[in-house]
Amino acid sequence: MLQVLNPATEEPVATVPAATPADVDAAVARATTAQRGWAAAAPADRARLLRRFAAVVDDHVEELARLEVTEAGHTIGNARWEAGNVRDLLDFAAGGVERLNGRQIPVAGGLDVTILEPLGVVGVIAPWNFPMPIAAWATAPALAAGNAVLLKPAETTPLTALRLAELALEAGLPEGLFQVLPGTGPVAGNALVEHPGIAKIVFTGSTRVGKGIMAKCADQVKRLTLELGGKSPNIVFADADLEAAAAAAPMSFLDNSGQDCCARTRILVQRSAYDRFLELLTPAIEEIVVGDPADERTQMGPLISRAQLDRVRSYVTDDLEGIRGKAPEGPGFWFPPTVLTGLAEDAPCAVEEIFGPVAVVLPFEDEADAIRLANATEYGLSGSIWTRDVGRALRASRAVRAGNLSVNSHSSVRYWTPFGGYRQSGLGRELGPDALTAFTETKNVFISTEGPAL
Ligand code: NAD
Repeated sequence: MLQVLNPATEEPVATVPAATPADVDAAVARATTAQRGWAAAAPADRARLLRRFAAVVDDHVEELARLEVTEAGHTIGNARWEAGNVRDLLDFAAGGVERLNGRQIPVAGGLDVTILEPLGVVGVIAPWNFPMPIAAWATAPALAAGNAVLLKPAETTPLTALRLAELALEAGLPEGLFQVLPGTGPVAGNALVEHPGIAKIVFTGSTRVGKGIMAKCADQVKRLTLELGGKSPNIVFADADLEAAAAAAPMSFLDNSGQDCCARTRILVQRSAYDRFLELLTPAIEEIVVGDPADERTQMGPLISRAQLDRVRSYVTDDLEGIRGKAPEGPGFWFPPTVLTGLAEDAPCAVEEIFGPVAVVLPFEDEADAIRLANATEYGLSGSIWTRDVGRALRASRAVRAGNLSVNSHSSVRYWTPFGGYRQSGLGRELGPDALTAFTETKNVFISTEGPAL
């Protein structure tokens, strides 16, 4: 049994049966049958059903959002956006069904065409930090490309995933096509990874677990997309609009209580602007409203679990200097917004992913030093560059080795632009114009116009 707790109060919310390897076997069998019919259906029919699924989700945005506030402690504003994002992902993927074109390639003596075929059954292993959007990033395009999906949500956040599976049936998706298997990683997650009936795994979570899954997928040459950790830089050059950069910096790492793989947790500031930037940043951190996630005014809620709170506390010891915001006391997994200063460049807090409301500020000398420092972790997911010099913005965008950068902004995720990591932040891309092709095999067919060979 999985025990779901409300992270803002520590009260039990639900218990959910945990899937066993036998449950996974049965789910794969049902999905395999459902996928055959789905792949054979007319593209227009698949698109129509996915649009209907999007419409049903839209009718339940408030319900899904409230569920996410309860099981994950997300602020209500964020949770509404997340449920709306599922609807938009389904709509976007539905628009791709009839546009999933192969190519025609010039050849002598015939016609050469490529056909994009579905993979079959796709296993999606999701984390707890954005349970709905991350599940839908893979599920929507995989279904649109003609696959069946088995989704294993994280242990702490199975409820919105289970509700989405009910809504899929309500919308008319075939039985068995999209199934949710709550369970533990080492049992249900591992059973998906090892199952020969699953053609691809999409894993989002820690780099450590991702590496183990990659090694296991190698046994079957199983297709794999990995969305892993990050320790992303927020580079502030002295010529930037410092007021704007300081005002935007807090929520770039405090959104979702810092449990965001794109969080800009390494604030790199040019030395000549360092003191002024900290002067502007201090009140901005102290004013962040931390509290009841169901309150519309709240900017930051609790951490997901006691384990995550202990992890953050193990990094942020009392002897470290910096800026500390406010957090509620009493029950709930609360940690205040924190910015650490005076650390060595290679201190654990400066290079390891903490996954909590904690950033470090480090000074740099010039553009070359900024790039060196920005690239000085094993990760490469996101990053921001603040400058008024357009040439510098472009040079830095090319030099930072990360998959998702923003200039004078912290935006990095849109369902219609590609998302994914360099280096140990991941493998492959999700979202964007090519989202569906990640769930297909390309088959090349040559048709001779010269008559049958004798
Ligand atoms: P996690 O790696 O512990 O778990 C992620 C998922 O994998 C869960 O569903 C879990 O049950 C499952 N899992 C665990 N062990 C498994 C195993 N042996 N076999 C199969 N499945 C297994 O990570 P988490 O604690 O849930 O999430 C936090 C981490 O995820 C952070 O490091 C964060 O950066 C990363 N993350 C990355 C992205 C991204 O898009 N790059 C997005 C969200 C989270």
